[in-house]
Amino acid sequence: MFIDTHAHLTFPEYKIDLAEVISRAKHANLEAIINIALDEQALSESLKLAEENPGYIYNAYGLHPQDASTWQESIAHKIRALAKEKKIVAIGETGLDFYYKLSPVEKQAEVFRQFLHLAQELDLPAVIHSRDAARETMRILHEENRGKLKGVFHCFSGDLDLAGEALDLGFLISFTGNITFPKADKIRESAKMIPLDRIMIETDCPFLAPQDYRGKRNEPAYVVNVAEKIAEIRNLSVEEVAMNTAKNARKLFNL
Ligand SMILES: [Zn+2]
Ligand SMILES: [Zn+2]
Repeated sequence: MFIDTHAHLTFPEYKIDLAEVISRAKHANLEAIINIALDEQALSESLKLAEENPGYIYNAYGLHPQDASTWQESIAHKIRALAKEKKIVAIGETGLDFYYKLSPVEKQAEVFRQFLHLAQELDLPAVIHSRDAARETMRILHEENRGKLKGVFHCFSGDLDLAGEALDLGFLISFTGNITFPKADKIRESAKMIPLDRIMIETDCPFLAPQDYRGKRNEPAYVVNVAEKIAEIRNLSVEEVAMNTAKNARKLFNL
C-alpha cells in the first residue's frame, strides 16, 4: 500500500537489526522501498539487498552534495553500467546543500550538473536534495533541462512558490517525517495545495523520524505517519493517500 521513496538502509544504524526493520515495513503494509546508496560500499550492500528482496527493495545511486568533492568519473561509468542492467531506478540523491557546505558550492554545482546529464542520457529520474539553495537549484535545473528531465524534490521543506516551480518543471514533491513537526506549517501548507498526482512520501531514514518517534532512529515503517499527516491535512483517507502516492512512485521510478 505505501512506498517509502527514500531510505538509507545501509547506514550503520541498521547494522544489527536490518532484517527486523524490513519485516516491520512489510507488516506496516509497505509495498516497496527505494534505497538510496551514496558511496561504493553502500552500493554493493544495496545491490545485495535488492537481490534478496526482489520487487520490494529498489536502488538509486548518487552522491550527496555534501560529498561532491569525492566525485570521480568512475561514478558515471558505474551508473551507466547499472542502468543498462536495470539495477537502479533513479540517480541521486544529488543537488545542492548550502546549509553545511561540506563541499565547496562550485563543486556541488558541477557534480549536480553531471548527474542531471546522466539522468537524461539514461532516461532515469533524478532525486534532488536541495537545502538552503532553492534559487540556485532551480537555476541549474532550468539550464540543464534538455526536455527529458524528470524527478523528485525529496524531503521537501520549501514554500508554495518553490513547489510551484518544481511542478512546472514536471517534478514531483516528496514529503518526509518533518511534515509532522509542530512548527512545520509551511510544509503542511505545500502538502495541502500540491496536486495529489504529484506527491510522494518517504522517510529519509535513519534521519527525520516523525514527531511520535522524534530524536529516535527512523525506519521505513514510519512512512505511514507521513501519509497519515497528509491525509489529515487534505481531508482524505490514509488509503487514498497511500494509493495515490504509491501510484506516483511506480510511475516515476518505473517499478
Ligand atoms: Zn537528502
Ligand atoms: Zn537522503
